[in-house]
Amino acid sequence: MSKTTKQFQTEVQQLLDLVIHSLYSNKDIFLRELISNASDAIDKIRFESHSDESLLEGNSDWKIKLIPNKDAGTLVIRDNGIGMNMAEVEENIGTIARSGTKAFMQSLKEKASSDNPELIGQFGVGFYASFMVADRVVLETRKGGAAADGCRWESNGDGSYTIEECSCELRGTEITLYLKEEFKEYLDEWKVRSIVKKYSDYIQYPVVMDITRTETPKGVDGEVIEGAGTIEKTEEQILNSMKAIWARAKSDVTDEEYTEFYKHISHDYDAPFRTIHFSAEGTSEFKALLYLPAKKPFDLFTNDRKKGLQLYVRRVFISDKCEELIPDYLRFVKGVVDSSDLPLNVSREILQEDVQIKRIQKSLVGKIISTLTEVKEQKFDEYVTFWKEFGQVLKEGLHFDYANKEKLQELVLFESTTSEAGSLVSLKDYVSRMPENQKEIYYITGSSRETVEQSPHLEVFRAKGFEVLFLTDPVDEWVVQSMTEYQEKQLKAVDRGDLSLDSDEEKLEKEKKREEAQKEFSDLISLIGNQLKDKVKEVRFSNRLTDSACCLVADEYGMNANMERIMKAMNQTVPDSKRILELNPDHAILKTMAAIHQKDAAAPALTDYSDLLYDQALLTEGSTIKDPLRFTRLVSELMVKAAQ
Ligand code: ADP
Repeated sequence: MSKTTKQFQTEVQQLLDLVIHSLYSNKDIFLRELISNASDAIDKIRFESHSDESLLEGNSDWKIKLIPNKDAGTLVIRDNGIGMNMAEVEENIGTIARSGTKAFMQSLKEKASSDNPELIGQFGVGFYASFMVADRVVLETRKGGAAADGCRWESNGDGSYTIEECSCELRGTEITLYLKEEFKEYLDEWKVRSIVKKYSDYIQYPVVMDITRTETPKGVDGEVIEGAGTIEKTEEQILNSMKAIWARAKSDVTDEEYTEFYKHISHDYDAPFRTIHFSAEGTSEFKALLYLPAKKPFDLFTNDRKKGLQLYVRRVFISDKCEELIPDYLRFVKGVVDSSDLPLNVSREILQEDVQIKRIQKSLVGKIISTLTEVKEQKFDEYVTFWKEFGQVLKEGLHFDYANKEKLQELVLFESTTSEAGSLVSLKDYVSRMPENQKEIYYITGSSRETVEQSPHLEVFRAKGFEVLFLTDPVDEWVVQSMTEYQEKQLKAVDRGDLSLDSDEEKLEKEKKREEAQKEFSDLISLIGNQLKDKVKEVRFSNRLTDSACCLVADEYGMNANMERIMKAMNQTVPDSKRILELNPDHAILKTMAAIHQKDAAAPALTDYSDLLYDQALLTEGSTIKDPLRFTRLVSELMVKAAQ
């Protein structure tokens, strides 16, 4: 067949116009597209040669060769892949077979296309990206085996192309780009090298280039031979590392290789805590290689930290920080996802909306959670070390990842009244050792174990033998807002609302006692209440206390001291919320105060004692007191009096 000139399909020409008129600011990606096509072509012949070895023609030294030629101003991309026959060239290059093309072009037109590069990203321009940097493109290609006729295709990207038979010697495809004047930089060795390194490093076939170096000849012992001049030495160098570890079978990758790759992508000095390598098939096809680090990075809680995973599409690099792949509470996870479904030119805007990405994310999260669950169940000690590094972030998930809440609840660990400092319990452990008469899960929030351990709120729990969890991370205040029950048991703060720890009989008895005390001391209670009216909402007798004289209690939905402290630390305005002062009717102070009150209801000591009670309650919960001077003066006076 002689050379024929043909018109591009309308849609192709429209697409070409968009490409040429710079929809992409990043021109480098043309090379990525062509290398990716070449790699796909090699994938295909490798597959097809299984059933027809004649296709190989003995040429199976897989490689993608880049040949820059400064004299001619051309860049050649050659592969020894499957190649195309003429019908295939016509079908693949020159028409767009994809459905929805027309509608897509229409939407591009309507939406002032040049402002919408993300739209074209959805489409994937592939081969046509060549026209971003070249004003003439020649493609020569030949299939192997019986269908051995070669084909030459050429276009200036201006509406038409020519196609003819040719006698290409080598099987595969060779694309020659006649670079536009302003893109001659793509002939530069270092430019080509850096693009390959950046975008195509993990292509599993060697991407090679002939490198010529000038050398001075040396003698056998390496000495310079005078007057010998210089010689030029050319050798083919591989530009990419080819290490698509994630694309390899798990059984083929050694622990060292996994670790080395982890260090490469994370810049971490330590080996990872766990490696998760898996592939998904079905509605979403992808491979993922994820790493859970062993140590918390110093910037885990800063905003400007690089987040996200590396995203590849069919082994072609797309992004090194795709945040959409991983939720924020798993931001410490490192790794690579290689999707088979996404278009190569997927843009940021698309990533945010893409259903495939959402599916991938869901699957990754599931895998990470199941890995951690397994470690927790099988190697609890190791899990504890991990939790100490990352538990704080993981807990954010309880608030934000509703779908996985139940699974995440199994992963959380806390210290508690029955654990020694530094050792941790899970909710499951907690529930399994709850005494029969305990109906709820109890916790106390505060700034540290040391503070909460001293809290008078714990007295009644100790007396009853009920375990109380220590929630001492600032994030815990939010955690308990979302995690309100576990295994159908309510989580309840020990310093909030009314407690119902007792059996019906105990309750009756305590209530009776409380009423009696309330009656007996009613005048004293209203005197204390009056003295503290600006500070507390109510003064009442408590059934929480056994040893201490008093404590402060928040309403069921009010703000507790810890939350108040955190909000203040975050420079938030804290609404004025008064709490309830609970008194221990059995405590000697109450008896003393009652005696003073009986003698002289207007005794000044009563107001002083009321203030001291309130300040005591603040101090024991770890809060600061408003007037430390007055507090110390009163205590000093009491000390002096006691000594008299
Ligand atoms: P995509 O790669 O997204 O399918 P392209 O426009 O880049 O879109 O390529 C269209 C088709 O042309 C490819 O699907 C492939 O069948 C064929 N093709 C492109 N480059 C090559 C190549 N180097 N070797 C063999 N076939 C190729």
